[in-house]
Order: sequence, then C-alpha cells, then structure tokens
Amino acid sequence: MLAENIKTVEKNIKEACARANRSAADVTLIAVSKTKPVDMLCEVYDTGMREFGENYVQELVEKIDRLPKDIHWHMIGHLQRNKVKYIVGNVTIIHSVDSLRLAEEISKESVKKDVCTEILIEVNVAGEENKFGFTPENVFPELEKMAALPNVKIRGLMTSAPFVENPEENRKYFRQLKQLSVDINAKNIDNIYMDTLSMGMTNDYVVAVEEGATMVRVGTAIFGARNYNK
Ligand SMILES: *Cc1c(COP(=O)(O)O)cnc(C)c1O
Repeated sequence: MLAENIKTVEKNIKEACARANRSAADVTLIAVSKTKPVDMLCEVYDTGMREFGENYVQELVEKIDRLPKDIHWHMIGHLQRNKVKYIVGNVTIIHSVDSLRLAEEISKESVKKDVCTEILIEVNVAGEENKFGFTPENVFPELEKMAALPNVKIRGLMTSAPFVENPEENRKYFRQLKQLSVDINAKNIDNIYMDTLSMGMTNDYVVAVEEGATMVRVGTAIFGARNYNK
C-alpha cells in the first residue's frame, strides 16, 4: 500500500517535471516520517526509498538508531540550539536553519566533531506570523555572516508555504523563493551554492516542482494522515 503511494507521488513529480521542461532526476523526494512507527519506515525503505525527513530531534535520533545506516536523514523541523549536538554528524542536511545563532551553533558543533554540515536557509516567504524563518528582506545581511562560518556549507533555501485548499495559491511563494535563490547566487558569495530548493509538501508539491523545487517533503501522501494524540 505504501509502495503504491510512493509510485503515485513519483509519477506526479515526473509529470510536473515534463510540464516544466525539467529532468525528474533533479528532484529528490523526501519521505516525511514524523510521528510514524519504525515498521512503516521499514516498509517504505524496502521500496528503495533512502531519503527520510523528521521534525523532532529525539524521535529522529531514535529512528537513526533503529533503521539501516544507508538512509539519508533530513532534519526539517524547527531546531533548538541546545539540541544541535545530537544531530550534527548524524543527518545529511538540515533544512530548517532560521537564525544566525542556530547556524553558529551548528558550525561550532561541526568543528568540534570535525565534520562539514550541509544546511538550507529557511525563508518565510508568505510572512506567516506563526512560522519560523528569515524574511526575504533580512536574509541577505545574515547570509554573508553564515557563509563565513567554518564547517557549514549553505546549499540553498527552504520554505513551508501556507496551508491552502488550492495549491495554485502557493505558486507565487514558490516563484519568490526560486527568484530569491537566483538573486543570492548572482552575488557570488563564497561558500554559498544555491543548488537546492526545498519546497512543496503533500498539498502543493506538484506546483512546487513546476516552479523549480529540487527537494519535496511529502508525508501524508506517502504515510497517510498523522495522529499526534497517540
Ligand atoms: C510535516 C512536514 C512536511 C510534510 O507534510 P505533509 O503535508 O504531510 O506532506 C513537510 N515539511 C515540513 C517542514 C513538515 O513539518
């Protein structure tokens, strides 16, 4: 059943790429497994999936411990500075870097462990009050400071668009994030790559791919609805 879900999502991504004249190989599907039990992750792993996204540090660390070592773990949730030490060295990329102080902590811990940590800068393009992330305006001055930090590599931008009934409403935000990455790239700042755009969730990943997403974070469409009360 979960294998069918993944096939459907992959097919939708492929078709969105075709419409946008993009190669499907340029889009990475991340299976967002937060709140889901290990046996479900195993089922998805057995279909060949190796990219998993998690939001909560403790849950992430437990799952890393219990699942195969060839999984690429994506930290996609808000990260507190005092928890950075638990994930640096254990995850492939941190999507949710939303402050200079967090980036500094990731750098410090990466130096300590002698690893290089790849990060994305979270931008709150829609300006939602309840969401984390830089505004498109204040990301620039902070970016240069983050780029100067040792042992972190800035690979691109991430956003979570608003929850909307019609995903077309989010197209403008995905376009804005893409444009922002183009603008940042044009500045040729050392240690900033901008080859990754993490945008699009179950509701709007098709539109996000049409607008240039290179990573989509899909939970519900793969694992089914989440129950936070269990
Ligand atoms: C939970 C979550 C997702 C996946 O959401 P779905 O709507 O279930 O696909 C993607 N990104 C972030 C940051 C999340 O917290």
